[in-house]
Amino acid sequence: MRQQLVIVGAGPRGTGILERVAANAPALYGGPGLDIHLVDPHPPGGGRIWRQAQSPLLWMNSHAEDVTMFTDETVAMAGPVREGPTLHEWAELHGRTFADRQLQGRYLAWVYERALAELPPDVTVHHHPRRALRISGPDEGRQQVWLEGRPRPLLADLVILAVGHLDGELDAEQARLAAYAREHGLVHLPPDFTADSDLCALKAGEPVLVRGFGLAFVDLMVLLTEGRGGRYEGETYLPSGREPVLYVGSRRGVPYHSKIGYDWTGDRPPLPRFLGPAEVEELLARPGGFDFRRDVWPLIEKELGFAHYHRLFTAHPGRTTMAWADFEEKYAAAGGPDETRALVSGAVPDPADRLDLAALDRPLDAVRHASHDDFQKALEDYIEADLNRRHDPSHSPDLAVFLGLLSVYGQLVRLGDIGTWWHGFFSYLASGPPGPRLRQMLALSRAGVLRFVGAGMAVTAEDGVFRATSATVPGFGVEARALVEARLPEPTVGRTRDSLLRELHADGAAETPDGLLRVDPGDGRILDRTGRPHPRRFALGPYTDARAPGAFTRPRTGGPAFRQNDATVRAVLTFLTASYAKELAR
Ligand SMILES: Cc1cc2nc3c(=O)[nH]c(=O)nc-3n(C[C@H](O)[C@H](O)[C@H](O)COP(=O)(O)OP(=O)(O)OC[C@H]3O[C@@H](n4cnc5c(N)ncnc54)[C@H](O)[C@@H]3O)c2cc1C
Repeated sequence: MRQQLVIVGAGPRGTGILERVAANAPALYGGPGLDIHLVDPHPPGGGRIWRQAQSPLLWMNSHAEDVTMFTDETVAMAGPVREGPTLHEWAELHGRTFADRQLQGRYLAWVYERALAELPPDVTVHHHPRRALRISGPDEGRQQVWLEGRPRPLLADLVILAVGHLDGELDAEQARLAAYAREHGLVHLPPDFTADSDLCALKAGEPVLVRGFGLAFVDLMVLLTEGRGGRYEGETYLPSGREPVLYVGSRRGVPYHSKIGYDWTGDRPPLPRFLGPAEVEELLARPGGFDFRRDVWPLIEKELGFAHYHRLFTAHPGRTTMAWADFEEKYAAAGGPDETRALVSGAVPDPADRLDLAALDRPLDAVRHASHDDFQKALEDYIEADLNRRHDPSHSPDLAVFLGLLSVYGQLVRLGDIGTWWHGFFSYLASGPPGPRLRQMLALSRAGVLRFVGAGMAVTAEDGVFRATSATVPGFGVEARALVEARLPEPTVGRTRDSLLRELHADGAAETPDGLLRVDPGDGRILDRTGRPHPRRFALGPYTDARAPGAFTRPRTGGPAFRQNDATVRAVLTFLTASYAKELAR
């Protein structure tokens, strides 16, 4: 009897898993033939996020040259490398283009088709355009995967979940705001995928409070401006008259840092240096466990500082007063942040050349403006300065810090999940919007369509309206009949709207304190609350505690997500082959 593998989710992750099946099956699979059931209501390849049916105005926030679905020899994995084109090579774009999401969807669909074509003849894929609702079945026997609208389940020797970004139920605060909006005839849009939100209720000319200044905000801004017929002429925005007025703020009160707009030249910083496999092993071996702030963050700071100063001293030595070798030795020996700070102030005269992670993270802390108009102008200047700096190669230590962040991210994956703060910090610094989007923000601000609220944005629901205030402009508040939460739902297994994961959770699958599904860091098997891996169920992706950088892999960067896909697929193929051998021996 042929063996059955069910993969739920046919987005980038599900597609990457198939690519690894095609790469590994010829050498590793020795069963009677394998049917792979790919379950996803959206088309395979792009899946939900990268489907064709969405606005062409929405872009990726990655350069096309930084997006690949194919492995290279930098990926430390047991399976074979199968090279293939990056997005920019495939689409014949300039490497620094920000492709639209539809195009990325076409690339992913092509990767999917190529994986299908490369499968050995005894492996066949069947796509089921439906939602998976539930998995049942014993640990030691075939699993049943129940699909929407199907009376009988798919039978599966093994199941891999690649369900990606989850929709969430409202938390207590969101539920309160939603109830208030219903009672008072207001509009409240909770965290969601902006491309899927119905924005019709946001009326022309009316103020809308927007909480969240990251990538979800950029999507919202685009759909409510160009998406409503406005256009740009050079640096000027010409409104259509159908736009609402957006009042945006967040905890930081500033947009994410611009994507860096120049290429690396010269030698890369030799990373990892202070946070590599040995340090990770040491953290994992601590009998009392480790604490992120106490034990991990100092290593991250040291690593990012190393990347920054390595670049400054080697590429811009005129801005330092010491030889790199001397600095490096003293930097390595420095016992703590005070010693490092003293070393840096002596060796790097211009404060703009020193790495200050706290200031980068919270640029408006302790900043106060007397009027809202003052602040509006100050934030325009801040965005302009950030854009200039991130497009100026004389600040190339910023790019070294970016490489440092990628390196750190790759190492930290092995620690399991270390909390949401780090992911937010990483995105804010390393995964911000394309420069042109920030230019659009400036034009929208000048056109009066976009207003900035400030840091520590607080929203209340009183007197029949929503009201936003911020510490940045004391005494200033803005009232509106509409509030949008511009962020993705939290990937919380216990509160997802997806019954599949909720039931797994109710059945005993373990979660982290942040609500992520616990999986074996080696092969992705789902863990129960005693830490035991389920022999037949695997999970990969952003809702698990083995979430790799939540982004597409950049070529030649080791690709932790590729390594995970490979390890899971090899575990799956080995299991199937062994269970067939056992059957034959019986
Ligand atoms: C809006 C957005 C924009 C992004 N932009 C970028 C970017 O520009 N650059 C970058 O590097 N990264 C970006 N990312 C991050 C990353 O690339 C994406 O997260 C990527 O889509 C993750 O792939 P995935 O397959 O794990 O999850 P998803 O893309 O979420 O795919 C999961 C699939 O599972 C399906 N599914 C879920 N539940 C079920 C179920 N119960 N039954 C059947 N099917 C199910 C869904 O329909 C979906 O197709 C973005 C993420 C988001 C959310």
